[in-house]
Amino acid sequence: MEHAFRNPPVLWRHPEPRAQYDIVVVGGGLHGLSTAYHLAREHGLTNVAVVERGWLGNGNAVRNTTIIRSNYLREESMPLYEFCVRRWERWPEELGPEILFDQRSLLTLAHSQAEAAAAQRVVYANRMAGIDADWVTREDLPRLCPILDISDAPRYPVYGAALQPRGGIARHDAVVFHLARACDAAGVHLLQGCEVTGFVRSGNRITGVRTTRGDIGAGRVGLVSAGRTPLLARLAGIEVPVQSYPLQALVSDIHEPFLPCVALSGRLHMYVSQAHKGELVMGAARDPYRSYAQRGSSHILEQQLQAAMELYPIMARAHLLRVWAGTVDVSPDAAPIIGATPRDGLFLNCGWGTGGFKATPGSGVVFAHTLATGTPHPLSAAFGLERFTTGALVDEHGAAGVAH
Ligand SMILES: Cc1cc2nc3c(=O)[nH]c(=O)nc-3n(C[C@H](O)[C@H](O)[C@H](O)COP(=O)(O)OP(=O)(O)OC[C@H]3O[C@@H](n4cnc5c(N)ncnc54)[C@H](O)[C@@H]3O)c2cc1C
Repeated sequence: MEHAFRNPPVLWRHPEPRAQYDIVVVGGGLHGLSTAYHLAREHGLTNVAVVERGWLGNGNAVRNTTIIRSNYLREESMPLYEFCVRRWERWPEELGPEILFDQRSLLTLAHSQAEAAAAQRVVYANRMAGIDADWVTREDLPRLCPILDISDAPRYPVYGAALQPRGGIARHDAVVFHLARACDAAGVHLLQGCEVTGFVRSGNRITGVRTTRGDIGAGRVGLVSAGRTPLLARLAGIEVPVQSYPLQALVSDIHEPFLPCVALSGRLHMYVSQAHKGELVMGAARDPYRSYAQRGSSHILEQQLQAAMELYPIMARAHLLRVWAGTVDVSPDAAPIIGATPRDGLFLNCGWGTGGFKATPGSGVVFAHTLATGTPHPLSAAFGLERFTTGALVDEHGAAGVAH
């Protein structure tokens, strides 16, 4: 194994692959690690390998802006995302306080009367589903977000905002480390520098994966490889309707705390929070073309900074430190794809698009259930691949979009 894919063994071990595992999880991002963690914790399955082409958490796991919320719109989505938030509420005790899960409240700004009406509909739907949600008037906003310009000066004036008090952020790299260490301690094999290049088949059944570290047999295989899932699925002869786009983010230098909440603007493709260390963490728009590039680009950056300074004039004093992109896996209805495939023994968990960080705990629970039992978890039953042939879509464009 290349030196680049090794870490101090004090973090986790570097085992040689076994010839056969009960379950092979392809992708060592947060969803893959969470799946393996719950296979061990909730199903007692530890003859499990997480197979990762690079190093653990190299992908979206540590490229995202860490926003956590459950104020989605559809009756299929709300229970799934609320389940995820409830699991996040348990995780500081379960995984360790270093994950810095912080329910500092989350505002979704409305910039027109039409947006305000739509946001209020989501608030009412959330309340009916038992999710904390409120409508905040424009006049009341400075109490929650003192740096927001609520005058008529910005090009898109603020009309009010939907509030989820239990929304917040967490520290993504710490979540990777803690999940990986917990998996390792349970006996799960974490195989870094191990790229899946094909599948071993017996008739219609997938019986293993071909990798750069040799063939590995598997009772069941779970693909949790975000934007690369359609490429992998194609190697098994399956079309997955997911398109991969770069999504950009940026971070500023360090400032004293002045932003007490998370604030999103879907209209301006602008979302921002202040990390515990003091940096402003901002998310930008998705690139308009498909690609696997992981760099930022100046046209998106310019639009992003314009929006930031219109809404939060004080940000003109901040300096931009870094900009980057991750590959987001976007499905046609902006909802994830979780469940079985036409190949026996092969299962999928992808299509989380711009919003899968918040889903890390629940995604792992439902996918571990699916891999352990071969049947869908009740919370993910509506999210199977077959919905693209039956037409039973879960259209979340309104509440997902780029607004995390
Ligand atoms: C800029 C940006 C901002 C975001 N902000 C938010 C946010 O604020 N809130 C939110 O909820 N979500 C956000 N997201 C989305 C979130 O990051 C993703 O939905 C989530 O991390 C997906 O998790 P994952 O584990 O599936 O993907 P990843 O972490 O990308 O993991 C996939 C893994 O599969 C591995 N892999 C791929 N191909 C192979 C192969 N052939 N063999 C072996 N391994 C392979 C990759 O190397 C990678 O490690 C954001 C994303 C980006 C890019």
